[in-house]
Amino acid sequence: MAETDRRRSVDEHLRTVLDGIGSIDPIQVTLLDSQGLLLAEDVRADFPLPSFDNSAMDGYAVRAIDTRDATENSPVVLQVVGDVAAGASTRAGMGPGLSMRIMTGAPIPVGADAVIKLEDTDRGLARVSIPRPVHTGENLRRQGEDIAAGAPAIGAGAAIGPQQLALLAALGRDRVMVRPRPRVIVLSTGSELIDVGQTPAFGEVVDSNSYMIAAAAKDAGADARRIGIVADDHAKLLDALESQLLRADVLITTGGVSMGAYDVVKEALSELGTVEFTEVAMQPGKPQGFGHIGDRVPIFCLPGNPVSSLVSFEVFVRPAIRKLLGKRSLQRSTVAAVALESTPSRRGVRQFRRGVLHREASGGYSVSFVGGPGSHLIASLAMSNCLVVVEEDVTEVQAGQKVTVIPLLLANR
Ligand code: AMP
Ligand code: MG
Repeated sequence: MAETDRRRSVDEHLRTVLDGIGSIDPIQVTLLDSQGLLLAEDVRADFPLPSFDNSAMDGYAVRAIDTRDATENSPVVLQVVGDVAAGASTRAGMGPGLSMRIMTGAPIPVGADAVIKLEDTDRGLARVSIPRPVHTGENLRRQGEDIAAGAPAIGAGAAIGPQQLALLAALGRDRVMVRPRPRVIVLSTGSELIDVGQTPAFGEVVDSNSYMIAAAAKDAGADARRIGIVADDHAKLLDALESQLLRADVLITTGGVSMGAYDVVKEALSELGTVEFTEVAMQPGKPQGFGHIGDRVPIFCLPGNPVSSLVSFEVFVRPAIRKLLGKRSLQRSTVAAVALESTPSRRGVRQFRRGVLHREASGGYSVSFVGGPGSHLIASLAMSNCLVVVEEDVTEVQAGQKVTVIPLLLANR
């Protein structure tokens, strides 16, 4: 299954990619590391929440019946026989006609069945004046009213955010089973490449792709690492990939997949027979390699031009990472925006243009293009905040027309 001449549509290639992406076994992580991941177990409450009847207010624990006849003009006066603070480890008891000063979250004394809040009393220390009847259950938080012991709390597949972390913590869980972050390894190929921190000599190019793609993979939810630059050399490339096989859930290379004489990624991996190099009907990002190496580790071979590389990542790799994370929605959401300029587009090719998305005062969106069709323009890439999708059958976008835009929102993980 080496090189094919057939041109694939974007949708066909995406289907091939996603069909080739399996799943990763769940792992146990500490609570904070579960943020942003999907739970891989059904969590039940081992104990109820609240776990004991407690006070919702700072006030006085009373028996409601003792306050039945209280009025503003003729308050009921109760003796205060003690204090109950939050964290009290023994349960206080309280006889008829008595009361106890109680703090928010403190256990309700045996014998009491209501709490009157401090502000509604004279705040007395030895005795307290109650100016109205207190209702049974007033200001009580009942054991188990939030969740009962043994009840299902959060199901497998739930996304874990701060709210879910709160419940897991409240239930005493220090570790949970999750779908792990895929370990993504990023490698740049090209004999012209040098690493950051250096000024390029004539003919040299600083490797930006591996930083960009590692950042994009991280943003998509992966645990991403770049392993740097590999020269256009068959053996070195295969060695570098092989050394990462046990550490990777996904491998990503950039460069070396076009028609050039030194397009080593394509040459070397085509020979393995498990990676397919295809032309996809898109612009940028026509040459794409995808397949598996080693023990079925998926590998994406993206084109080297930075813009092509990022667009390819967005269209094919991001959904694959999200599938590995177990997410149900694999695609970024899109918005409709009014194009502020006209631009031609080739029929039969899905074009992804870099754009700047604006929010209009009216609430709608508009978008302008940056960078033209050139795939090497990194400065304009850095000005963009979205991709504008120009469908295959469109030959011209006219100013004022609605277009589909993919905002490249940061996940802020
Ligand atoms: P290639 O796909 O290897 O033919 O590369 C296409 C163009 O992208 C060439 O101009 C390369 O110098 C450039 N390029 C390839 N890899 C990178 C990289 N990692 N960072 C920046 N530019 C690159
Ligand atoms: Mg190259």
